[in-house]
Amino acid sequence: MQRYFANIDQDYFVHVSKEDEHHILHVMRMKKGDEIEVVDNKQLYLCRLDDTNPLTISMVHEIASDVEIKEDVTLLYALTKGDKIDLVLQKATELGVKKVALIQSERTVVKYDSKDLEKKSQRFVKIMKEASEQSHRLVVPEFLGIFNLKALPPQVFSDVNFVAYEKDASKVSEQFQGLEKGKSVSILIGPEGGFSKQEIDNLVSLGFIRTSLGKRILRAETAAIYALSVIGYLLDDEKLI
Ligand code: SAM
Repeated sequence: MQRYFANIDQDYFVHVSKEDEHHILHVMRMKKGDEIEVVDNKQLYLCRLDDTNPLTISMVHEIASDVEIKEDVTLLYALTKGDKIDLVLQKATELGVKKVALIQSERTVVKYDSKDLEKKSQRFVKIMKEASEQSHRLVVPEFLGIFNLKALPPQVFSDVNFVAYEKDASKVSEQFQGLEKGKSVSILIGPEGGFSKQEIDNLVSLGFIRTSLGKRILRAETAAIYALSVIGYLLDDEKLI
């Protein structure tokens, strides 16, 4: 069943975006009586098309859903080349991330100037909204912005903050030491050239915990996907930690 993020008013009428209205009427060619799922304010609802001209949708009933990771997970991803960022945003959304920030560091080669930042941010939000709908999530991750590693704002920090550091080859069981149920978590992934020792030392002084992601050197996009998979597995599973 198709799912949309929309607003439901006090009369239980559903207000979808123009883009979603087009999708409902002209892509999915839905008819009166068809049903859709709607997420409004992190709650899922079954809704029905009362009319298509004009499009009128009303809420039928709530649907219980607990797809979200209880703890907020934030991905801090150093700018990488090409369209890897689009892939990472999509996969991070499917893996339950709540916030994403892009990071400029000593070795990031991609530079975004403020002029095209607005357009890129809109694209990033669109990618995460579509991935949220596809993965049946109740929230669209928040895009926090692009920040320099030397000036990380408070909003990128969590209760526990990890930096993935490939020089720390360690046993799998030693990964993400400090991850705890009930605590929000941030995970920082470096660019193609990695972080300098100086950057790592600064991050540790800011309270970041170094963690290995295993014995092999992963591409940045693989490292982000692996890290979020492990964090999701550990936090989602009742019996672990
Ligand atoms: N310095 C790496 C090298 O020797 O090729 C290049 C960096 S790697 C392509 C990009 C980022 O992924 C790293 O900065 C790190 O954050 C993360 N990463 C990759 N493999 C990792 C591993 N085995 N353990 C921890 N982090 C890893």
